[in-house]
Amino acid sequence: MGPLFAAHGWSVEVLDRDTDALGTFSGDVERHGTPLEVAIAKARLARDECPEGWWVASEGSLGVDAFGVTFDHEIVVMVDASTGVTLVGEALRHDVVLVGRDLESPPNADQIREVVARAGVPHHRLMVVSLDHDVAARGGLRTIEEVEAALREMSAPGRRLRLQSDCRAHFSPSRQRVIAEATQSVLRHWATPCPRCEGPGFAVTEVVAGRQCARCGRETDEARAEVWRCPWCQYWAETLLSETGADPANCPWCNP
Ligand SMILES: [Zn+2]
Ligand SMILES: [Zn+2]
Repeated sequence: MGPLFAAHGWSVEVLDRDTDALGTFSGDVERHGTPLEVAIAKARLARDECPEGWWVASEGSLGVDAFGVTFDHEIVVMVDASTGVTLVGEALRHDVVLVGRDLESPPNADQIREVVARAGVPHHRLMVVSLDHDVAARGGLRTIEEVEAALREMSAPGRRLRLQSDCRAHFSPSRQRVIAEATQSVLRHWATPCPRCEGPGFAVTEVVAGRQCARCGRETDEARAEVWRCPWCQYWAETLLSETGADPANCPWCNP
C-alpha cells in the first residue's frame, strides 16, 4: 500500500503495530467484527503516534466458496484522524493462491507433497496450524523440508494438524495484487470530490435494484442506479445505470 500512496504524492509513515490481537489467518486468534470494522480498528491503532493526517489499514477475507472457487476480498480504509471520516476501497479476485488440507496423524508424505505442489512456493509460503490451536502456528515455510520440520516439531499424540497457505500479505504475492487494487480503489475515491462541499471521497456506496422491465414496466431485481454519497456533508446523488429497460427474460412478471 505504502508505495502506491507515495506514488500519489502522499508522505507515508509505516507503523509496526501488532494487529494479531484483531484476528489471524492461522485461526489462533479469532476475528471479531466485520472486515470493515477490523480494518478501521487497525487504522485507529495509529492514533497515539499520529494525531493528525489519515490513518490507513487493510483487512482481507480469503476462502473457498460453496462452489470450490477461491476468493480474496480486500478492504483498504483511510480514516481522517480529526473527524473519523472513513473512505473505503475494495477489491475482489478469484485467482489468489490458497491451498489447505487437514493432515492425517501421523502426516502422510503424499498428502504433504500434494499440498506443496499447488502452493506456489517459494514465492508463496505455507503454514502449519493446529486445528485445536493448542500450539502456535508455524508459517513462512518454502520447501517440503521446512514443512516436514515444522510438522515434526508440532506433532503430538492426538493433535490434528493442517497444512495451508500462509496468507499474510508479505508471503502471498497473489494477495498483494488484490490489496494493491483495493488501494487504487480508495485512492480513486479520495481523488473524487463531493460536488457540494468538495470534500474528498465522493463514492458509490450502494447499488439499488428495480430497473423497469422493457415490456411491462414493472420493477425487476436488476440494478437500476448507483447511489453516490459524500462522507463529509452526507450529500448524495443517484446515477441511473441504463436508459433502457430490463430484458423481459429477467422480469418476474413476464418470465416467471
Ligand atoms: Zn460533501
Ligand atoms: Zn415484465
